Amino acid sequence: MQLEAQSYWRKCTSCKKEIPLGTIYWVCNVSTCNRKRTGLVFCSVSCWDAHVPVLNHRDSWAEERKSPFKNQLESEKIKMENLTPTTSTGTSSENDTLVVVSKLKNYIRTQSGMNTSGDVADILSDKVRILCDGAIENAKQQGRKTVMAKDF
Ligand SMILES: [Zn+2]
Ligand SMILES: [Zn+2]
Repeated sequence: MQLEAQSYWRKCTSCKKEIPLGTIYWVCNVSTCNRKRTGLVFCSVSCWDAHVPVLNHRDSWAEERKSPFKNQLESEKIKMENLTPTTSTGTSSENDTLVVVSKLKNYIRTQSGMNTSGDVADILSDKVRILCDGAIENAKQQGRKTVMAKDF
């Protein structure tokens, strides 16, 4: 039963071993090996080593990368945006994380000693958005262009 959804990300160029999702892999620093279309990937430095004599590289080294968590072409980009929510200038502000996840987790841990699952930040962000939308409405009704604390 091999369905479309692969359990791995890509196969190592050298040994053909599967490189899992969300794991460290290696790429060649040489730009011709590193091009999107060529896309050589290696499961270990020794597998990268093996291709160096084949392609006759002179100055080359292996670069550490991390494979995406989801098996989608765009997921690497999405992951980067999720990791840097405060600096994200992406167009998808609808789904941005509006709370500082590390501080949130710290707070819950200090208060209760509990852990916080990753999706909590998303739900809280939704709630913050709802609160903000309400405050924006209030400010509008007052004819203001500034949302103030009393709007909440
Ligand atoms: Zn390999
Ligand atoms: Zn190379």
